[in-house]
Amino acid sequence: MADTTEKNTATPDDTIFGKIIRGEIKTEFLYKDDKCVAFKDINPVAPIHILIVPIKFITQISEAKEEDEKLLGHLLLVAKKVAEDQKLDKGYRLVINNGKEGQQSVYHLHIHLIGGKQLSWPPC
Ligand code: C5P
Repeated sequence: MADTTEKNTATPDDTIFGKIIRGEIKTEFLYKDDKCVAFKDINPVAPIHILIVPIKFITQISEAKEEDEKLLGHLLLVAKKVAEDQKLDKGYRLVINNGKEGQQSVYHLHIHLIGGKQLSWPPC
């Protein structure tokens, strides 16, 4: 499995997603507002695999603060909207990987929107 972990090479307050958000890496945004962006995962695990990423730099969900409550709700509603745009009317999955055992590889909070096929459970 490719190791996309970048925790040790990124600066403390930036990751590859920061570069994507700032336009330093050219990426097509499927959704963008003043709080978040959504773009296709470079290594999709399903026919539809999109990442919803807050512009605010939060390393991971376990580091989110009370003050982030509204933003976190917004991210979920954007994920729902993107799912609707993608016509995932038969269902989909939202995933947040957190930390090493959660298999997080990019330490800028993001929600995976995964769908377009019958998914299975449990995921591990
Ligand atoms: O939850 P996790 O941190 O492992 O997810 C990071 C995701 O970011 C991976 O699915 C990976 O394919 C994706 N990625 C990307 N573009 C990059 C680097 C990583 O879409 N340039």
